[in-house]
Amino acid sequence: MTQHKLILATDLDGTFLGGSDAQRKALYDSLNARQDALLVFVSGRDIDFIRELVREPGMPHPDYVIGDVGTTVAQGRDFVPMPQVQDAISRRWGDSGARVKELLKDEPGIELQPTPFERRVSYYYDPALLRPETLTKIEAAGFDWLLSAETFLDVLPKGVAKGPTLLRLVEELKLPSDRVLVAGDTLNDLSLFETRLKGVAVGNSEPKLMQAIDGFDWVYRSPHPGAAGIADAIRHFDMALEAA
Ligand SMILES: [Mg+2]
Repeated sequence: MTQHKLILATDLDGTFLGGSDAQRKALYDSLNARQDALLVFVSGRDIDFIRELVREPGMPHPDYVIGDVGTTVAQGRDFVPMPQVQDAISRRWGDSGARVKELLKDEPGIELQPTPFERRVSYYYDPALLRPETLTKIEAAGFDWLLSAETFLDVLPKGVAKGPTLLRLVEELKLPSDRVLVAGDTLNDLSLFETRLKGVAVGNSEPKLMQAIDGFDWVYRSPHPGAAGIADAIRHFDMALEAA
């Protein structure tokens, strides 16, 4: 068994995929060069997007993926679903998709995202038009909602988000939690920081996330954007390659 010095559980858009091309390449090269790092993508994206993404030359392949805002969990080269974590989420969601779409079909300021959903339903929202009553309605129906980047509204099974699913994965794999570093940039990453695992909010983080993590002293605020912020945090927490 490899002893992992770094278990990087990172958001994609704006975080792992953020920063300049040179900053991204530097992080990806450093991860590809080490055997003592475990990589987990934790994203609002679905597996199809990530399958395409890892075809890009130089892009590190994640060991595990938590996709669809914490509702999908997969492992390995072929993104094989992990029933030991995912089944509980499926049971909680049941076949709520149609019900959620029906419930929200006439609500102003939201538009369904063009993605096939399994254990969630996601919309684009207009901050000027979205009504608080819409969110109340979602809660009353027994679901969680999540707003992020002033753009995305996710309807999720109650209690499910990126952070709780990551904790379940860490527990399932018996990973040393003090070696985990979470990274994010928007409010849908807040639940990652609420785990109290070591964290980095990258330099381009949205102001609402920065406000929400006020007082979280286990989260490092990097001045550097995206991938450069992650590389900075790896040094900050002394999780860089041995002898580096
Ligand atoms: Mg992001």
